[in-house]
Amino acid sequence: MVSHKLPELFAPGEVQLLASSGKPLVLGYSVYSYVRRSDSRPDQFTYNNSRSSDPVSGFDVQLPRFWLLAIDQLMERAESEDKEVLENGVMLEYMHELSFEGSDYKFLVSKFPVKSEGFEFLFSTFRNVTFYLDCVDEIGSRKVLFSLVAENMTDVFCVVGTDARLAFMSASIKNLTGYNAEEISCIPLSNILTPDSFSRLVKTWEDLRQPDFGIRKQLFEIEFIRDDHEKRWAEVTAASFAGPDGHILGVHALIRDISERKAMQEELRSSLEREIELSNVKSKYISTISHEFRTPLSIIYSNLQLLENHRFELDADTINDAFELSRMAVKSLLRVLDKVTVIDAVKKGKLEFKPALTDLKLLCSSLVKELNEMEMVPDRIDLLIGQMPDEIWVDESLFSHIFTNLLLNALKFSDKKSRVKFEVYMISPGLAGFAITDHGIGIPEDEMSYIFEPFYRASNSKHARGSGLGLAVVGDCLKLHRGEISFESKTGIGSIFKVVLPVAGEAGIQG
Ligand code: ADP
Repeated sequence: MVSHKLPELFAPGEVQLLASSGKPLVLGYSVYSYVRRSDSRPDQFTYNNSRSSDPVSGFDVQLPRFWLLAIDQLMERAESEDKEVLENGVMLEYMHELSFEGSDYKFLVSKFPVKSEGFEFLFSTFRNVTFYLDCVDEIGSRKVLFSLVAENMTDVFCVVGTDARLAFMSASIKNLTGYNAEEISCIPLSNILTPDSFSRLVKTWEDLRQPDFGIRKQLFEIEFIRDDHEKRWAEVTAASFAGPDGHILGVHALIRDISERKAMQEELRSSLEREIELSNVKSKYISTISHEFRTPLSIIYSNLQLLENHRFELDADTINDAFELSRMAVKSLLRVLDKVTVIDAVKKGKLEFKPALTDLKLLCSSLVKELNEMEMVPDRIDLLIGQMPDEIWVDESLFSHIFTNLLLNALKFSDKKSRVKFEVYMISPGLAGFAITDHGIGIPEDEMSYIFEPFYRASNSKHARGSGLGLAVVGDCLKLHRGEISFESKTGIGSIFKVVLPVAGEAGIQG
């Protein structure tokens, strides 16, 4: 049940309000009274100081000096006033004002005629209402002020009793959540908070409403779901508040939408992470590439030295070998550069898919010829081409990146004496299939899912040189060519990589 008003903080007979410090202030009035029988003098004088919050010590015979003066003045007029009230049987009430030591006081004088058991009495009270009246004014203006603030603020202010009942919720809740106060009080909190935020709120609530721990304050963040299903973040400043006797009455909370701030923080955090990842990738790049460059460069260097220092003593075969080794080392350098260039071009969106009508048989045979010549032990690739149209749509450059890397891996990760099979066939008129089979070291099962990641090299492949970039290039180029790759492998037995490429007319494969 929602009360759209602040909880009633004022106990009857006294005035209580929250002072600006947040501490409850108990205000009230003091009363001096007497009773007079119609035929006698006043008697049964009492003084009650109801300003005290402790009712037992509220009775105080020690009257303040301004009170003594007020009583003097009022008793002077009492004789005639009392007589008039008793005779007319009509109540008399007026305000008596008094200046004392620079302060102004107001006393409410009330005289009631009372008839009982044949006797006529008069009951007279003098109440010091100076402070009370001031406070009534103040409370009036504070209430108005509070409503103005509560109803116009963009943050949400709410008060919840220790029994978890919502006592007040500012109208701004509608802006924050899309629900008004009435609606939100009917929805279980677990429905509008994410599970983490809900358990944080429950924990905080239990902590705040503990009666034994005094006033507590908590600042925390919650993620909530608006009525339009949008998830947003809020910062909550919640504090418990107590009544005059120190008992915790409930919790008030200020709720602020911090989604934009959170999004900015998140953006900053992820760009920082990206920056760190980028710098890690860069340094890995540099160390891998420099490592990949070192071996071929030292091969070239040592062969140049050999030729320079011993050119007149060397026989023709040794000179040819020196040139051949250097040529292969240069080729291997170019291959590394090629991979780096492709990856860089893909990242920058500069590598495009440009299919053209191609004689696939010719393309495959020249690629195989080139690779067969490249290796120390030549002619290890067997090319098997099935029935094929004369021309199909292929991007030659992407094609060559894909199959050079796959075939070189098959050669590199298998024994120099074993053969590699390269099968090319049509799956359907618009779809070409390729399979590369080797009888090499295979890929460990638990590492299979990582081999297409840049720089990843399986634990059993360290003996063979490599950068871990070849399959990343294959993946990038296949994506551009809209092809697919799959593989099967068994350590110690070998691997088969299968590729499917769409090769239909230009319109058929451009998307
Ligand atoms: P590189 O060959 O330069 O190491 P790749 O990206 O081409 O890098 O390959 C990543 C890893 O995948 C290789 O290091 C190797 O562990 C594994 N791999 C790829 N092809 C084969 C294959 N045919 N046989 C065994 N392992 C392979």
